[in-house]
Amino acid sequence: MKKSFDLVVIGAGSGGLAAAKKAASYGASVAIVEGDLVGGTCVIRGCVPKKLLVCGSSLSESFLSAPFYGFEFENLKGKSEVLLSNVRKEVHRLNELHENFLNKANVELFKGWGEFRNANCIAIKNRKNGETLNELFGERILIAVGGRPKRPSIEGASLGWTSDDMFLLKSFPSRVTIVGAGYIACEFACILHGLGVEVTQLVRGQQVLRGFDLELSSALTNAMISKGINLRFGENVSSIKGRPGSLIIRTDKDHDFVSNGLLFATGREPFLDGLKLDKAGIEILENKIKVDSENKTNISNIFAIGDVTDRINLTPVAIDEGRKFADRNYGESDRKVNYDFVPYAVFSQPEIASVGLTEEKATQLVGKDKIKVFRSIFRPLSKSLPKIGSKCVLKLIVDKYNDRVLGCHMIGDNASEIIQMASISLMLGAKKSDFDNTMALHPTIAEEFVTMR
Ligand code: NDP
Repeated sequence: MKKSFDLVVIGAGSGGLAAAKKAASYGASVAIVEGDLVGGTCVIRGCVPKKLLVCGSSLSESFLSAPFYGFEFENLKGKSEVLLSNVRKEVHRLNELHENFLNKANVELFKGWGEFRNANCIAIKNRKNGETLNELFGERILIAVGGRPKRPSIEGASLGWTSDDMFLLKSFPSRVTIVGAGYIACEFACILHGLGVEVTQLVRGQQVLRGFDLELSSALTNAMISKGINLRFGENVSSIKGRPGSLIIRTDKDHDFVSNGLLFATGREPFLDGLKLDKAGIEILENKIKVDSENKTNISNIFAIGDVTDRINLTPVAIDEGRKFADRNYGESDRKVNYDFVPYAVFSQPEIASVGLTEEKATQLVGKDKIKVFRSIFRPLSKSLPKIGSKCVLKLIVDKYNDRVLGCHMIGDNASEIIQMASISLMLGAKKSDFDNTMALHPTIAEEFVTMR
C-alpha cells in the first residue's frame, strides 16, 4: 500500500509520540512507524519499568526499618518473578494505552521497520523476511528512533545481558555482575541488591557516575558499599566464559568471578541500523544524526529528535523537542527548547538528583574563588529510629559575584521530587538570598535548602 501524509514519524517512543500527536492536533495528517512495541525505551524497557522495580526493591529497606516502628515480620522474602511479571503486565497496559492515544489523536500507526527510499519516502519492512509492507510518502519526515545499549567487543560478550534483557527475565538469579558505573549500572546494582541478589559491580575508573557532583557520587559509593554491594574500582571485564546462568567472568586484573548473569551497562548509542539514511543523503556525525537548533537535518524536510541525536538523552527532552517541532512546523509558535537547567536523577537507592552546575563544573567555568558552596549533611528523620540507611547530602553552588544559585544537588529520599521543584527557581534565576527569604516547611528534608547559612 502506498499512502501520503503531511508528516511521517519513524519511532513511537516518547519523542515520536509527542511530536505525532501534537502535529495531528494542528490538523496535519500524520503516520507513525514502529517496529517494536509502542512506547519506546522509556515506557517499554527503561524509565517506567525501572522505576517500578525500584519501588519493589526499596521495600526491603522499609522492612528492615519496620521493627524499629513496632512492626514484626517473619520469613519475609521477595519473589522477583512476581515483581517482574507484574511490571510486564503494567508495561503491556501502557503499550495499549499509547496505541489508543494515537487512535484518538488521529495518528495512523504502521507496524514494521522504516527505511528511507529517498528524502520523502519511507518503506516499512518486516525485518524477519525482508517483505515491504507499505510505502509512505511524507512532506516532512521526523526521525525519532532513539538509542540502544552498547556492548563491549570482548570474548563471550553475547553471554551478557543489556538493560533491555533485564525486563524480559523470568526472575533475577542469585548472583549478578554489573559492568559500568553510570545511570543504569548504579540503578540496577541497587535494584538487584534490594531484591536479595548478590551484586558485584566492575567499575573501570575510580568513581561511579563520572560527571556528577563528586560529593554526591562519593556518598552513593559509600552507601552502596555499606549496603553490601561489591564495588570493584579500576577493574574491567576482559572475557566471559560458561553458559547462560553459569558464567565465569575474568577481569583485566586476572580475577575470576562466578556469576549467574552479567549486565553490560556500558552506555547507549543512536539506533541507526537499517534506516538507510544514505538513501536520503542524511548527514551523520560520529554515529549520530546531526541537527540544527530547530532539529532540522542537512535535508530541509527531514528532522530528528531525542536520543538519535545523542545530545541530552533524557525522555522529557525528547518530548519537548517533539512538541516544539510540531509547534514550529504545524502550529503558530516559534518557541525553542530550553536546554538550560535540565534536571536529572539517578534512581539509585539512595536517589541522586541535580540541576545546574556541579561544584566541579562551576569551578572550571566560573572559578574556584568566584563560587561559594553551601552544604548540609544530616540523617533524615525517617532514619532516626532505625539508624540504618545513609545520610542526605544537599548542596547549593552560588556565584559570589551576583548571588545567583548555579547548581542545586542532592542525594537522599525523594531527591528527584525535590530537585524537580528546585529547578523552577534556578530557571527563574533565583539568588541565594531568595532561597534564604523562603519560609521553611518543617520538618522536611527540602527545608535544608532554604536554611543553609
Ligand atoms: P552512562 O553513559 O551513564 O554510563 C556508562 C558507563 O559505562 C560509565 O560508567 C562508563 O565508564 C562505562 N563504560 C563505558 N564503556 C565501557 C567499557 N567498554 N567497559 C567498561 N565500562 C565502560 O550509560 P548508561 O548505560 O548507564 O545509560 C545510558 C544513558 O541512558 C544515560 O547516559 C542516560 O542518558 C540514559 N539513562 C537515564 C536514566 C535516568 O534519567 N535516570 C536512567 C538510565 C539511563 P566511564 O565513566 O569510565 O566512562
